[in-house]
Amino acid sequence: MAAPIPFDNSYARLPAMFHRPSPPVPVAAPRLALLNRSLARELGIDPDWLESPEGVQVLAGNTVPQGAEPVAMAYAGHQFGNFVPLLGDGRATLLGEVASPALGRRDIHLKGCGRTPFSGQGDGRAPLGPMLREFIVSEGMAGLGIPTTRSLSVVATGEPVYRQTTQPGGLLARVAASHVRVGTFQYAALFEDPAVLKALADHVIARHDPAAAEAPNPYLALFEGVVARQAVLVARWLLVGFVHGVMNTDNTSIAGETIDYGPCAFIDAYDPAAVFSSIDRHGRYAYANQPTIAAWNLARLAEALLPLLGPDQDAAIAAAQEKLSGFGPVFNAAYLGGMRRKLGLLAEQDGDLDLVRDLLARMAANKADFTATFRRLCGAAEDEGADLSVRALFQDPAAFDGWAANWRQRLAREPAAAADRAAAMRLANPAVIPRNHRVEEAIAAAVGNDDFGPAERLVAALAAPYEDRPEFAAYAEPPEPGQGVYRTFCGI
Ligand code: AMP
Ligand code: MG
Repeated sequence: MAAPIPFDNSYARLPAMFHRPSPPVPVAAPRLALLNRSLARELGIDPDWLESPEGVQVLAGNTVPQGAEPVAMAYAGHQFGNFVPLLGDGRATLLGEVASPALGRRDIHLKGCGRTPFSGQGDGRAPLGPMLREFIVSEGMAGLGIPTTRSLSVVATGEPVYRQTTQPGGLLARVAASHVRVGTFQYAALFEDPAVLKALADHVIARHDPAAAEAPNPYLALFEGVVARQAVLVARWLLVGFVHGVMNTDNTSIAGETIDYGPCAFIDAYDPAAVFSSIDRHGRYAYANQPTIAAWNLARLAEALLPLLGPDQDAAIAAAQEKLSGFGPVFNAAYLGGMRRKLGLLAEQDGDLDLVRDLLARMAANKADFTATFRRLCGAAEDEGADLSVRALFQDPAAFDGWAANWRQRLAREPAAAADRAAAMRLANPAVIPRNHRVEEAIAAAVGNDDFGPAERLVAALAAPYEDRPEFAAYAEPPEPGQGVYRTFCGI
């Protein structure tokens, strides 16, 4: 019989310091809570099989499927600026990789799998709530078209986990282009053996940057690729109001995917200083700081890669700095290009950035909802009568009028017909994002009432965020006063 999951594992073949054998630890009474059937199909896995008792045992970590070679990955990381030389997968295991015709090579990772060689004092488990949160928000990110790890399933383990309170346990099957992080390179560098670094770098080039292999300096080209992916990724976060919340180097993916949905949240009212994470006391990872932090993380990657960049370390540093200095221009182009699309500006003109900044400043001063403001602007772009619905989002509606007059003058210099402009804007301004109060509502129903309906409905709403679908209209609405949720937790 063909293996139900067509594994083809490459990371497990890296030198031994990069991983430890780590079979998942079985759980008492697993129940499938959420399954991503379309992702299963894209991976070449039969969703009906995943739903069967045999499939659920695999998603729960109770059986290791044919072809899997579960390993916990070793990595280091800067957490809130402090270097930790050995973190590693303390509550996750890489089951293996699937070379999917539709998606390319993808890791299948079980998060909440029980103790691993990197667990330290931890139990290796995860509460159900945070696993549902990761499923919902990561699938929301995928729906928005932003690079991200994906979620295949959430299983309720039937076991309690003990944190400040006792909570039901959960397990997430996470799918990623790879789980190699900046922290994996920091870990490799600690061996002070270029062969160790090279093994990791060659693995990553083969997976994510095959063109770099042909470059005069493949490792410099790899670095340049990571810089560009991170710059574009963070620009796209800002364009949808996303605050990652824990941009440690171990949560910075080499493949350029959003990874680690612990304390993240989307902003409702626009606030560049927005911080949601209860542990981010100094606002290190605030909304507007994210580009600076991404560049800082990439500087740590450059340091780790230096021994591979050439025999002369001064020349290597200069070359890395030159590539790192590419972050700003790539970020700025992605950000301004994205903002132009959000405002319906198809041509590039001087002064566009000022127009963006003026709107954002007025939104911040008037606590205007970020997502709703931009979505409603799409209507205003073809019908001035729709201004009323945008103004209503500003504490002082006149603050919008002053900006709208300048915007209309600018639109007058655009060649596109108004209806085409509005249609294009609707593809850049989502109606639905994973608003925090909706995510919390879905988790509360699941954890408190064993009702996964609200989570399923929210995931369905997030699958087509650029469409106005009447049945999901409520998900486009900002929270009512008192409904907003402004504190998030790490989910450990
Ligand atoms: P995270 O905040 O998810 O990025 O995790 C940071 C580090 O803590 C990683 O090395 C995790 O594997 C580890 N960790 C988090 N939760 C647990 C847990 N319950 N048991 C063991 N290790 C954990
Ligand atoms: Mg992490």
